[in-house]
Parts: sequence; C-alpha cells; structure tokens
Amino acid sequence: MSRFSFLDVGHTYRVLQDEMDAAWRAVMASGYYIGGTALERFEADYAKWCGVRHCIGLGNGLEALVLPLRARGIGPGDEVIVPAHTFIATWLAVAQTGATVVPVDADPATMNIDLDAVARAVTPRTRAIIPVHLYGAPVPMAGLRDLARTQGIFLLEDAAQAHGGMEGNRKAGALGDAAGFSFYPGKNLGAFGDGGALVTDDDDLADRVRMLANYGSRVKYHHELPGGNSRLDPLQAALLSVKLGHLEAWTERRREIAAVYDRALAGLPGLRLPQGAPGTAPVWHLYVIRHPRREALQAALAALEVPTALHYPVANHHSGAFRAEYGHLSFPVTEEICATCLSLPIGPHLSVADAEEIAARVGQALRGL
Ligand SMILES: *Cc1c(COP(=O)(O)O)cnc(C)c1O
Repeated sequence: MSRFSFLDVGHTYRVLQDEMDAAWRAVMASGYYIGGTALERFEADYAKWCGVRHCIGLGNGLEALVLPLRARGIGPGDEVIVPAHTFIATWLAVAQTGATVVPVDADPATMNIDLDAVARAVTPRTRAIIPVHLYGAPVPMAGLRDLARTQGIFLLEDAAQAHGGMEGNRKAGALGDAAGFSFYPGKNLGAFGDGGALVTDDDDLADRVRMLANYGSRVKYHHELPGGNSRLDPLQAALLSVKLGHLEAWTERRREIAAVYDRALAGLPGLRLPQGAPGTAPVWHLYVIRHPRREALQAALAALEVPTALHYPVANHHSGAFRAEYGHLSFPVTEEICATCLSLPIGPHLSVADAEEIAARVGQALRGL
C-alpha cells in the first residue's frame, strides 16, 4: 500500500480518541438520542464559529439545501441558478423542490460559477441563486449580494466543501442569506456518519427550516407545516463539537500542503493549478490540478504510488440523472474541467514532507509522459 492515502477519515479519531470517546459516552449516558444538550451545544458553537445567529443541525448536506428552498416557498415554476460544475447534490436539491435548475458555466480560472454569466441567467422567475464554494474556494459574493438584494432573490451558499473558508473577514456561511453545510465524513468538518446544517441570520428562515426538519412542528404533536424528518444525531453533534476545536489547525495543514503544491508544481508543462479568487481564503477541501492528458498522468502517478481522484469525471448535464433534460446544452468550461481535472491528496493526515514528496513524484510523472 502507498504511504500516502488520498483521504483518511479515521485519522482524526486516532488523534483525538480520548476526547471523542468521552464525548460519545456522555451522550450515551444522557438518555437523549434525538435533540438534547449535545446537539444544542454544537448548534450554538457552530453558529458562533461561522459568525451567524442560527445553526440548525440536519440529516445531511443535501437536506441543508432542500429545506431552505422549501422554507422560502420555492417550487414548480420557479428558477434557481446553480453552477454547472458542482457535486450533483446542488442540482438535486433544486430538482427535489420541483423548481427548474438553471445551470451556469464555470469561470476557467477559479472553476467556480462564472459571475457574469449568473447576471445574464437571471429572469423574472429567478427565485434563488446557489453559489458553491467548490473545492473549498469561496465564491466572491459582493456582486451576487447586490444582484440578489435588488432583484429580491434568495442567496443560498452551498458551503458543503468550505467550512471556515473566508471572503474578506467573513466566513463561508455568513456570505449570503443562508448556507448549507455537509458533515459527510470526508468533508473538512466530517462526522462519523451523515450530517448537515443550515446556518443563517434570518430568524424566520431558521424557524421554518427547524420546523420542516422536525415534522413541521415547534411543539410536539402540533404540526403546522407538512414537514419531514431530517435531524442531526446528537452523537454526531458531540463528536463534531470535539472536532470543531481542531478545525483551524487542520485547515492550516491543508493550506501548508496547498502552498507546497503551488510552489513545487508552478510552471510545469501542460499543468494548470487551482487558483482562489482575489480577496478569498480557500480551505482546500480538494487540490484539483488540470492536465490535457489526465488519464496518462493519473496512471503514471498510480505507478509511483500517488493515489488521486476525479472531482468530477461526468458533468451533471451529461449524468443519467439530468441528461434527458439538459444533455443538449453545452457548458464548455465545465466539460473541459471534467475531462482534465485530477485531485491530489490533501488533508490533515498528510505532513508537509509528504506533500513535498508527492509534488516531486508529480514532476517525475509529467517528465515521463
Ligand atoms: C457533499 C456535498 C453536498 C451534499 O452533502 P451530503 O452530506 O453528502 O448530503 C452538497 N454539495 C456539495 C458541493 C457537496 O460537496
């Protein structure tokens, strides 16, 4: 086995085992397995950490996008602008509400949504825009905030990959009207199972999302909305609270690794490196390089025992889920990214020395192509 794993979700448990074991034991002993103080504490801590008033723990990151759209009454006949290039959950969240997915191509430099194209995609039916801070790189939001405010459009961040990412001095989650986070194990703040959260400063939205996630009720057996069941497990919340205390240090390690790659891989022939937008501080959920001979490079790296992955190999409009409706459309930048992207290992399980060795092997692989 290679000494570098692409991802190691067990690493954080190994380094924090005593603290985590105490946390889950306390939940087990509390007798509260839905709701309770462990969940309330995490919600309060995470809201404060993001710099917003409300955090509502939810079942997963997909629900953290669906429920705020539903809470705003968005559904059939409404249009929601999303990036063409994103994990499919962003599109599925819109589709689940019955609203129309309006994809917009990517910016070739940042791989995030093309901001000029967003403005062109707005119509009188546009009810929401979902910028995605893809790969942990925050989307510059000032222009989107102005557009959303003047047109009465709901601005929902998909922050599933960007816990702690910053634009200026504000964190992801505090850059729009509301934000959905995922705590899927592989995310920068990952649980030991599924989890998600909606964060917002909007009291009414927070209240409605909390109701929708809990059978439409504020008070048990009084059901005011046709809600569902999407709750963050208090065991997961207790473990996430432990991890939250270490997230800044883990993000710092990701930044150190990204800086090694930036420096060591700059100027290599045919290689394009990821690039955050000016004024933003990415948290490097993924480090995605691009190369026209991606398959050959991936095979050469595998031979050198450097594991890599593709985020994402199939554009959403070409996926089985969406091609009947969107397959005739063309998003050239998105298609180019899907054909050339290659994610290098990054995360707190790797040392700076590991990153230097991986970068050296990328150089070696490229020379042999
Ligand atoms: C992971 C992810 C989601 C969905 O999160 P789940 O917890 O897996 O439901 C949504 N959007 C993006 C961009 C993601 O990466």
